[in-house]
Amino acid sequence: MVPPPSTIGEITAARDLREPILESDAAVATHELEVVIIGAGPAGLCAGMYAGRSMLKNVVLEQGLPGGELLNTEVIEDYIGFEHVLGYDLAEKFNAHAIKFAADVRTYHRVETVRRIADGTFETVMENGDIFASPAVIVTAGGTPIKLEVPGEIEYAGKGVSYCAICDGAFFKQHTIMVVGGGDAACEEADFLTRYAAKVYLVHRRDAFRASKIVQQRVFKNPKIEVIWDTVVDEIGGADGLMTHAKIRNLKSGERRDLQATGLFIFVGFRPNTGMIDGHVEHDANGYLITDANMETSMRGLFAAGDVRAQLTRQVTTAVGDATTAAIAVEKYLTARKNGAPAPLPQPMLTARGTT
Ligand SMILES: Cc1cc2nc3c(=O)[nH]c(=O)nc-3n(C[C@H](O)[C@H](O)[C@H](O)COP(=O)(O)OP(=O)(O)OC[C@H]3O[C@@H](n4cnc5c(N)ncnc54)[C@H](O)[C@@H]3O)c2cc1C
Repeated sequence: MVPPPSTIGEITAARDLREPILESDAAVATHELEVVIIGAGPAGLCAGMYAGRSMLKNVVLEQGLPGGELLNTEVIEDYIGFEHVLGYDLAEKFNAHAIKFAADVRTYHRVETVRRIADGTFETVMENGDIFASPAVIVTAGGTPIKLEVPGEIEYAGKGVSYCAICDGAFFKQHTIMVVGGGDAACEEADFLTRYAAKVYLVHRRDAFRASKIVQQRVFKNPKIEVIWDTVVDEIGGADGLMTHAKIRNLKSGERRDLQATGLFIFVGFRPNTGMIDGHVEHDANGYLITDANMETSMRGLFAAGDVRAQLTRQVTTAVGDATTAAIAVEKYLTARKNGAPAPLPQPMLTARGTT
């Protein structure tokens, strides 16, 4: 179990080694830190652990409970070293490990805005107006898969309904499943899922895909995929806690029917959580933050790691890898600033092909 909010972020012996956070007497407090980390998913907790181990005065600000998307994931089978682990359990391990090494994890702390001020440092402003001031910020706020918002979607999430083909495809060997969407992600993942599934219905609300032509060709050539055009999902149903079918409706004819399927993969979009950044930061066409090889964005001192970053794939492994680089790069950035040396030069910007 993830510990209750009251115990998460407890001051640890290791954290006592650092200077206390300064708080003013004013109703709105200002906290002086070396690095602020926004979000306590895998990337934020990993960045917090490395920041803590480097004895950086840090805070990890999380709007909910720690774990990020791990808390929405039933089982993980592709995090190396863990053949089978519950998302909840992995979240707890990440959180405990980060806290042990002096990450100051604050739950139910939602960041409203992060802005770079004239002296080149940052102010991270909370919902209650409190400010966390720091020369470096790491944004690890992840993203949110766009939902269909139909009855049964939440009930059967992790019990048939998924937003991640790489993560969950292997659970559907020889099953009949559905994919919803019409862009590159939906078409690519429908094709990918035929490695496992016996049959994939690709349900799209229009009569043509938005996906690139080459990806469409792969779909049309794949004998395991049947495209259902002009159709939406109205409801997801099941039995004994597992999905068994979806109620679909043709938008042109109005015809309704039940489609038998044990899985439903939804790829109708994913929104990176970057709305809190005040000012322009380079991003790709879908809003993901573009960084250099050190995970620094186009705004000096603002780093990004994990799902919020433009990259080829979004997994727990990539999130913690990014976060490791970001936290170590921050430590070098701060050391250079303290010594009056020029901060390490930005590295070439990294973009995932096709995402810009
Ligand atoms: C259903 C599902 C199943 C998955 N299964 C797997 C799998 O089997 N294997 C695998 O490797 N990957 C899997 N993934 C992907 C994996 O979960 C993500 O790649 C990983 O969680 C990304 O970590 P992150 O820290 O970058 O972002 P997230 O996990 O999204 O964490 C971001 C955190 O930031 C917080 N936050 C956002 N905005 C704010 C704000 N303004 N203020 C404060 N906090 C904020 C959020 O509450 C959240 O806790 C799955 C994803 C989904 C959706």
